[in-house]
Amino acid sequence: ANATRDRLRIAIQKSGRLADPARSLLAACGLSWRESRDKLFCYGESLPVDLLLVRDDDIPGLIADGVCDYGIVGRNELDEQANARLEIGLSPAYREVRPLGFGGCRLMLAIPETWEWEGAQQLQGLRIATSYPAILRQWLSARGVEASVVELSGSVEIAPKLDTADLICDLVSSGATLKANQLKPVETLLDSEAVLAGPVRGFNDARADLSAMLLRRMDGVLKLKD
Ligand code: ATP
Ligand code: ZN
Repeated sequence: ANATRDRLRIAIQKSGRLADPARSLLAACGLSWRESRDKLFCYGESLPVDLLLVRDDDIPGLIADGVCDYGIVGRNELDEQANARLEIGLSPAYREVRPLGFGGCRLMLAIPETWEWEGAQQLQGLRIATSYPAILRQWLSARGVEASVVELSGSVEIAPKLDTADLICDLVSSGATLKANQLKPVETLLDSEAVLAGPVRGFNDARADLSAMLLRRMDGVLKLKD
């Protein structure tokens, strides 16, 4: 993890909601790449900054392990994995370096439309389906609520219909998916957007200057956007 390198490596989502905006942002920072045949690694041409194209779930771990220096990932994913690490006594090993202003969504609790929301205490003893178990457990324990967290990797919103859970905790942007499943959002656990994630400690090799330049350029691009 402490190996010296003279090129910077950035992990971005290979395909999905963050893939194109992440690439566009980096291109706007003046980066360009030569694509390899497998399209998993893009060799930086204009600058020694390479891309690794991966699943978003893998990005925090790649930074923690020092395989990549930076990553563009949803705050939801970054916080979930930081909380999960905390639960087993590991330190975060990465941090949010910049919010990026795209990929906005909220991690929310949603209950059946027919219920009346009376607050967190109402969740005592219920089953909550989610792909963000560590964030949810942390939120529940901060409120002294004991509920059972049902971890699902996808299709969380149909869990109440299938009776595998009573309610859900899921990412919401427009709310259309909730509505289609007769659910209504009641509490926000996290306001999320895409972020630049990076290492907790600085670099002591060529990556230090590269990293400073990348951040300078990114700040310029982000300022133009708002
Ligand atoms: P991968 O194949 O990389 O694992 P994925 O299915 O986990 O992809 P996407 O659905 O592409 O991921 O979402 C990536 C990120 O986009 C989310 O982690 C979140 O930060 C953001 N996002 C924005 N709006 C939404 C939304 N409505 N639902 C889900 N994610 C959203
Ligand atoms: Zn994912």
